[in-house]
Amino acid sequence: MGHDTSSLLGLKWHNGNSLSKIPNIKETIHYQINLNKKWCLSWTRLWWDMKFMAIWHPLIEIKKYVLLWKIFHHGIWTNLKASKLCGIPLWCKCCYPSIKDVPHIFFTCPNSNRVWHTVGKKIRLQKHLSWQQALLGEATGSSTTLWNAIRGEVLWKIWRERCALNFGDSPKEWLIEKPLFLLGKRIVNCKKSPPPPPPSGIIKFSF
Ligand SMILES: [Zn+2]
Repeated sequence: MGHDTSSLLGLKWHNGNSLSKIPNIKETIHYQINLNKKWCLSWTRLWWDMKFMAIWHPLIEIKKYVLLWKIFHHGIWTNLKASKLCGIPLWCKCCYPSIKDVPHIFFTCPNSNRVWHTVGKKIRLQKHLSWQQALLGEATGSSTTLWNAIRGEVLWKIWRERCALNFGDSPKEWLIEKPLFLLGKRIVNCKKSPPPPPPSGIIKFSF
């Protein structure tokens, strides 16, 4: 973008306080580098942008959209993250010695994997789901919108069950059938009355 960050020195906020932290413009431009590093991928900025755009849809409730967004950024509090800060064990309580990071919580941990397996059967996938399909919304053969809505339901379910397990709440069930049934009902309702356009400025994207 050609900004000279030194020109930002000495700037003041409306209350007179000076700008103490220079925004890391380079980091903003190359956010895909950070994401690629986190996921060991080499996607382009455009490809990441498309992934982020695709998770904003009326079929995906805000709380599920936020979870999907956080997963993209590895923004979930995990044992791996906590172990760096306060030295707690970094393995998963359910399946020692697996390291409890974001892909483990939402995909490879046995309970989570069972849920994905059920979903794969429900949508009649020919092959096993890959972690990219489950966590990042890579194509599965169904429409991107539908797949992201399904992912939203599954990841939300896994997250709720995990939280219940961690905080000792009353036992819940890992069954995904009901959330998928409710999603199906929302899709039917959406077809009957088309959803309003999204708020301006959120998915505006020009090529
Ligand atoms: Zn586990």
